[in-house]
Amino acid sequence: MFDNLSDKLDKAFHVLKGHGKITDVNVADTLKEVRRALLDADVNFKIAKDFTTRVRDKAIGQNVLTTLQPGQLMVKLVKDELTELMGGDAAGINLSGNPTVILMSGLQGSGKTTFSGKLANYLKTKKNKKPLLVACDIYRPAAINQLQVVGGQIGVEVYTEEGNRNPVEIAQNAVKHAKANGFNVVIVDTAGRLAVDEEMMTEIANVHKAIEPQETLFVVDSMTGQDAVNTAKAFNDRLNFDGVILTKLDGDTRGGAAITIKSVVNKPIKFIGTGEKMEAIDVFYPVRMAERILG
Ligand code: GDP
Repeated sequence: MFDNLSDKLDKAFHVLKGHGKITDVNVADTLKEVRRALLDADVNFKIAKDFTTRVRDKAIGQNVLTTLQPGQLMVKLVKDELTELMGGDAAGINLSGNPTVILMSGLQGSGKTTFSGKLANYLKTKKNKKPLLVACDIYRPAAINQLQVVGGQIGVEVYTEEGNRNPVEIAQNAVKHAKANGFNVVIVDTAGRLAVDEEMMTEIANVHKAIEPQETLFVVDSMTGQDAVNTAKAFNDRLNFDGVILTKLDGDTRGGAAITIKSVVNKPIKFIGTGEKMEAIDVFYPVRMAERILG
C-alpha cells in the first residue's frame, strides 16, 4: 500500500537523518523532495504546495535546526500534517435510527456491491446487528445476482423486487420489510454508471430523499487518484454525503486519493477496502495511515 510514496519520502529524509551538520538548505531541499513525492502520488499541486508550506512554517516555529535530532522532528511534523490532511481522528459510522438506513453511492466498478457485503458482514459480526441488503440496481440483472451471491456468502438476506423498475419504491419497500421483520440496519446498493451522469444523479438523489438515510456513503476506487477526488466532488455536490469508502487500497501504490479526498470534499474517509474477500474491510484511522506511509 502506497509503497512508491513511502520509498520517496524515505529518500527525502535521508540527508536529514544523517549525522552531519544540518543547514536550512538541507531542510528546504527535503521539503522540495517531500512535495515532489506528494505530486508523484497524484496529490494536486496546490494541496502539495500548501502542505510543505505548513510543514516549513512549523519547522521554523520549532527551531528545527537547533534541536538534537532535526531529522526525527521533521518526520514527525510531516506525519502530523499528513494525519491532519487525512482527517485527524477516525470518523465512525452513525448507527442511530431503527432501522439505520445506509445508502451506498458511487460509479460502476468502484466496489460498491462488494463493500455493501463487507459492511453488512462487519455490522453483523462486529456490531451484533441484523442487516438487510437491498438491490436497487434495476439496469443490470448481474448486479442483483452479485449482491445475492454476496449475501449468501455472509448469511445476510438480500431484498429484491424482480420486475419493479422503480428504485425509489424498492428502497421504500425494503425499509418497510426491515421494520416488519426485525432488521436493524438496511444497506441500499444503488445503480452506478461508468461516469457521472445526470440520470444516475437524479435517481440516487430521489432515493436519498425518499428514505432519508442516516448514512450516505460514497464508494470510490483508490487507484484512480485525482479522478477519485473529482468524482467525490461531483457526488458530494449533489448528495452531500456523510463519508467516503476508499476501496482497492491493496492495489494502490500511490495514495493520492487517500491523502487528498478529505480536504477537497470536507467529508471523512470512514472505511477502506483492502481486498476482494468479505473480511477485507477496515475502519480508516488517519494516524495509522500516516504512520504506515512514513514507515
Ligand atoms: P460495483 O460495480 O461498484 O458494485 O463494484 P464491484 O463491487 O462489483 O467491484 C468491482 C471489482 O472490484 C470486483 O472485481 C471486486 O472484486 C473488486 N473489488 C472491490 N473491492 C476491492 C478491494 O478492496 N480490493 C480489491 N483488490 N478488489 C476489490
